[in-house]
Amino acid sequence: MQKVVIIGSGPAGLTAALYTARANLKPLVLEGIEPGGQLTTTTDVENYPGFPEGIQGPQLIDEMRKQAQRFGADCQFKTVVKADLSKQPFRLELDGGDTIETAVVIIATGASAKYIGLESEQKLIGHGVTSCATCDGAFYRDMPVAVVGGGDTAMEEALFLTRFASQVTVIHRRDEFRASKIMAERTLAHEKIDVAWNTVVDEVYGVEKNLVSGLRLKNVKTDECSDLTVDGLFVAIGHQPNTDVFKGQVDTDDVGYILAQNTRTNVAGVFAAGDVTDPTYRQAITAAGSGCMAALEAERYLEAQGQ
Ligand code: NAP
Repeated sequence: MQKVVIIGSGPAGLTAALYTARANLKPLVLEGIEPGGQLTTTTDVENYPGFPEGIQGPQLIDEMRKQAQRFGADCQFKTVVKADLSKQPFRLELDGGDTIETAVVIIATGASAKYIGLESEQKLIGHGVTSCATCDGAFYRDMPVAVVGGGDTAMEEALFLTRFASQVTVIHRRDEFRASKIMAERTLAHEKIDVAWNTVVDEVYGVEKNLVSGLRLKNVKTDECSDLTVDGLFVAIGHQPNTDVFKGQVDTDDVGYILAQNTRTNVAGVFAAGDVTDPTYRQAITAAGSGCMAALEAERYLEAQGQ
């Protein structure tokens, strides 16, 4: 039986692995469908402390993994397909059929940005199509960009992008924003921001050059199409926490984010760290920090159990 199984291998999971490995708990890390998580779809990471020149997202993850492995973390490219957290020991069923028993589970399965779903959009993710202005905004200095969405995230992204971009066009499918009044007002008042109301992105241009060059927009009221020249498309239509496999087993909010108090879920011995429990900050550094907290909480829990 395992003492600690960490599900997910982004900054939260790998930091939890580092700390629990150094506590001699021999953690098993189940890396999941997208090993490394959202950072592996980012290029330069310029806001992770300790790298004054920035670091590539995949490289940062590789370094974190190596650091955890150095202290004995066992990282495996496996995915949990079923979890039974109703009694000790917890049972996790993996792809391929194996079952693992463990005293502690740290859930660090992250969240996935929602995308529109166009084929041209999918092909250009990481090449001008992104879902994180904080990560990629600075690459669009003096260039026109577009943001899709009408919620608080879209407003926040658009306002942040005005620091760099020459022009920001917010593309929203309805004629009013879902965002809070104050964020909507700030967005509408900004001289660098235009809004394309009742509009959706119909195609992202640039697939042949592997870099976004523009968008075909469609007015949903008139079906009229038009082109917009942009160098970047920021998709801000929400995130979905990766919690399907834990549905009904731990408390979540309406969207599916795990509810946790200092990483402790409502199930003793089950901890949650990183974006899977954080609809607010969603940064690599905050995820890493909560991975550390989950590891320390897990250590304390095991000690209290006499394990
Ligand atoms: P959200 O509130 O769910 O808004 C998503 C937006 O994307 C909506 O305007 C929606 O349009 C649009 N959308 C969804 N699917 C789409 C699609 N397929 N094509 C085009 N547009 C689509 O998500 P969010 O903005 O990420 O915010 C999530 C939560 O975090 C909210 O509770 C928000 O208040 C909170 N948040 C708060 C702050 C802050 O306070 N500073 C910052 C960020 C987020 P419709 O409006 O037509 O549905």
